[in-house]
Amino acid sequence: MEYQTHEHDVLVVGAGGAGLRAAIEASAAGVSVGLVCKSLLGKAHTVMAEGGIAAALANVDDRDNWKVHFADTMRGGQYVNNWRMAELHAKEAPDRVRELEAWGAVFDRTSDGRILQRNFGGHRYPRLAHVGDRTGLELIRTLQDHGIHQGIDVHMECTIIRLLKDGDRIIGAFGYERERGRFKLFKAKAVVLATGGIGRAYKITSNSWECTGDGHTLAYDAGAELVDMEFVQFHPTGMVWPPSVRGILVTEGVRGEGGILLNSLGRRFMFDDVPHLYRAQTADDEEEGWRYTQGDRQARRPPELLTRDHVARCIVREIKEGRGSPHGGVFLDISWIGRRLPDAAAHIRKKLPSMYHQFKQLADIDITAAPMEVGPTTHYIMGGVRVDAETQMSTVPGLFAAGECAAGINGANRLGGNSLSDLLVFGKRAGEFAAQHARERRPGPIDPRMIEEATTRALAAFERGPRAEAPYQVQYDLQDMMQDLVGIVRREDEMSRAAEELGKLKARARHAGVAGNREYNPGWHTALDLQPLLIVSEAILRSAQARQESRGGHFRDDFPDKAAELGGVNFVVERDHPGTMTLRTMPIPPMPEELKQIVEENK
Ligand SMILES: Cc1cc2nc3c(=O)[nH]c(=O)nc-3n(C[C@H](O)[C@H](O)[C@H](O)COP(=O)(O)OP(=O)(O)OC[C@H]3O[C@@H](n4cnc5c(N)ncnc54)[C@H](O)[C@@H]3O)c2cc1C
Repeated sequence: MEYQTHEHDVLVVGAGGAGLRAAIEASAAGVSVGLVCKSLLGKAHTVMAEGGIAAALANVDDRDNWKVHFADTMRGGQYVNNWRMAELHAKEAPDRVRELEAWGAVFDRTSDGRILQRNFGGHRYPRLAHVGDRTGLELIRTLQDHGIHQGIDVHMECTIIRLLKDGDRIIGAFGYERERGRFKLFKAKAVVLATGGIGRAYKITSNSWECTGDGHTLAYDAGAELVDMEFVQFHPTGMVWPPSVRGILVTEGVRGEGGILLNSLGRRFMFDDVPHLYRAQTADDEEEGWRYTQGDRQARRPPELLTRDHVARCIVREIKEGRGSPHGGVFLDISWIGRRLPDAAAHIRKKLPSMYHQFKQLADIDITAAPMEVGPTTHYIMGGVRVDAETQMSTVPGLFAAGECAAGINGANRLGGNSLSDLLVFGKRAGEFAAQHARERRPGPIDPRMIEEATTRALAAFERGPRAEAPYQVQYDLQDMMQDLVGIVRREDEMSRAAEELGKLKARARHAGVAGNREYNPGWHTALDLQPLLIVSEAILRSAQARQESRGGHFRDDFPDKAAELGGVNFVVERDHPGTMTLRTMPIPPMPEELKQIVEENK
């Protein structure tokens, strides 16, 4: 089988925020860097990020600092986070944002010219640096502009399907060009995975087509550990109508700017259920909530800005109990602020330009004049590759991971805005330490049998041909099954059924076939996507069955409370030698006294 060969010191897989930031740092350290991505450069999923980057710059409220950000992140994650990652993230995020500004990012401004910050769920103070509701676009544009001048070799529209090892260590990766189907070998002394999320394992999702859990699976296949896979975030507000746009995100920024949630009776139901952990920080009434969104430092946040897991469950409750909107959601209303602000329509269009256009163009709704219909959508996975907090290296030497495909910082639930800052903080660290790792090593020998095995596996669907079942149908049924049986509310009887179904889906995937040849063949791409989608689905399911409690994004109808003993452990999955998935608990190391004190002081 023919293939092209490329050689780099560090290979970064993924050109979202994490991958670009890692590539910039590795390249600045003086090593040669290759950057591979499935789409065109600049079109990674990060480009869709809307609300902002969380960093305790204290530009809008000078009471903010890294300690409050750390405490908010730990509370949001319900204390199963990797506390060292949460600490590094809170301390380093402000510098990463200022650096982005120095590289040309044009943030919205305060009246005295500093980076403007907005309110977001679970953050005590206004903390999200933003560019309207198009922050991801500005982040990607800035990193791309900066990185492109550093001599990074970019391999676009190329999918990595296998990591290559010599003994224990990583020595490269193997993939194919999506357009022509030609194979490519990348020799590298270190590989950084920055492949993003898994949303495409579910039917309703805000995630782009790229989010098929590739990095999770590449790492798992290479012997790395995955942690916290039961923690999937269902964002409370996705579009629900029309059906063709179901799942597309409605940014939390709408609620940050004063948007309220209403049921079909016109009741602001979020006031009905405020969790104990957040009672002291939540507004007593609508008046106080409104003052908070307008910057009153004495006011506390409205309940719409509670953490995403909680808001999503309240919405599901309203829908299930018959108080939903006509198309199976609830109402999100920003137009009501017209009763409070003189020029509200212009204000909404300025603060939420993408949301305004999204609803106008896709649903023919003017959000300055009418409420939106919204419902939960699969948005983010807190779980991912287990990495060392300082270096981002996985348990496999030479294999690093950063961004959404890595785990630790978020624990059971991610606060909005903490992903973009995570990409910058840990993308930089991954690039730095991958470069250091590469400088200290020689390239490894590539065994031709590994290539042969990878190509045979990749082409197997052609051997089975068009008479076999099409991979689309298997993917569709998998998404349906995950949505229905391992979704926002979980129960053992449904998950046992999911385990049976997954076994059948795996068998169907093994027998699925495609027609045609390797050029421009989306059926073949889908056949290849099935492998990672099935692995991440199994990892989510196995971990969700094991965590017999409700915590953060993981809600068990049959175990609705938190179990004290599970507050001290993470669940880890890995591949054993025969190739089956094993699961174990891993105790969380005790938090140092000074961090414990910060958590206590900020309760
Ligand atoms: C609509 C929306 C709005 C959001 N808003 C915010 C926000 O305001 N603030 C916030 O903090 N977070 C937000 N998030 C979450 C955040 O955008 C993501 O978590 C984050 O962008 C993930 O970045 P990443 O660099 O890890 O991966 P991605 O941006 O997903 O990039 C992954 C990259 O890996 C590549 N890739 C994947 N698999 C392979 C493979 N096998 N071979 C080669 N390349 C591969 C892809 O092509 C892509 O280039 C939002 C998410 C959505 C969907």
